[in-house]
Amino acid sequence: MYYSVVDDDRGTDFQRRLDGVLDKVAVGRRLTVEDGLLLFRPEVSLHVVGQIAAEACRQKHGRTVFYNLNSHLNPTNVCVYRCKLCAFYRPAGHAEGYYLTVDEILRRGQEAWDAGCTEMHIVGGLPPDKPFEWYVEILRVLHDAYPKLHLKAWTAVEIAWFCRISGKSPTQVLETLRAAGLGSLPGGGAEIFHPEVRSKISAGKADAEEWLAVHRAAHQLGLRSNATMLFGHVEEPWHRVDHMLRLRELQDETGGFQAFVPLPFHPHATALAHLPKPAAMDNLRTLAVSRLFLDNFDHIKAYWISLGVGVAQAALAYGANDLDGTVRQESIYHEAGSDAPEVLTVDQLCGLIREVGREPVERDSLYRRVRRKGRDWEVETIPQE
Ligand code: SF4
Repeated sequence: MYYSVVDDDRGTDFQRRLDGVLDKVAVGRRLTVEDGLLLFRPEVSLHVVGQIAAEACRQKHGRTVFYNLNSHLNPTNVCVYRCKLCAFYRPAGHAEGYYLTVDEILRRGQEAWDAGCTEMHIVGGLPPDKPFEWYVEILRVLHDAYPKLHLKAWTAVEIAWFCRISGKSPTQVLETLRAAGLGSLPGGGAEIFHPEVRSKISAGKADAEEWLAVHRAAHQLGLRSNATMLFGHVEEPWHRVDHMLRLRELQDETGGFQAFVPLPFHPHATALAHLPKPAAMDNLRTLAVSRLFLDNFDHIKAYWISLGVGVAQAALAYGANDLDGTVRQESIYHEAGSDAPEVLTVDQLCGLIREVGREPVERDSLYRRVRRKGRDWEVETIPQE
């Protein structure tokens, strides 16, 4: 019997089901969809779910919290799609549409290199007039100039678009990108997989099956990737559980996902601007449930740009073990109203982690420890606890 689990006692049956879920977690048994739904119920104490998620995290990672030094690059904001969730895109021909030139892209690479970054995170719009070779060239010029900078590039939605415009399969597209310098895939574009929601927030772009097929192909090639979930708009809790279930199944099959990144929706300047932002309590609960439900994901990331710095720090007590990075040049969330700072320094990130009694460890994009030697660095594999 767990105490203070249910804030509003709905009777012994409810309590019995909850005890059953918590017993499963204690012995490392997998949660069912019904278990996941139960943990989303507001009557279940957030603090207890958080405590259990934090313990599951401690068993995997001890006191370690990861961060990295990274920079973002959005080569264009011009996009053929009109996702209602998006404040970033501009239609072709719009006065605010932009394309970075090769010189500007290289300047961003130099800036990232000078700042000690180990990773460049590259995503953007999908303009109607750029061939696949344009995207390949972006990776090639950056990789040639900064071969040690890991290029985490193009969401599965973008890869699916490259397939459409090139006539290639996901495997062929990924092989071409890897030859040009691709290091791994970010987890964006997943939104909410269920078509009932996806059709309302991002109609037209790659659906769940396409998104998962791209990540499956990447994993089969030996590339690692992340997965996101954009929540807190028009979905119900069961859509979130359905989303995580699909990811858990693919992870069982391939083992290629590194981190899960729950992203609260920012409505400002989107077509869904009338919706409220999800509450901090909802953000923490979603993060904690993901740690418990996604038992085959090593890393749960508290992305401070999206959560805000304070909630991201609190998330370290709710199952997260990664704060993402210094994040230079982020624009997608800031256009959607994020009031997070433009960048955090290494000292600030480490301070946030130490303030909650945890140990900061700088990682590279593949979760290897980074050892700095002046302006250079080397990496070493971190054994799991
Ligand atoms: S979310 Fe991506 S695909 Fe959708 S409109 Fe924005 S940039 Fe385009």
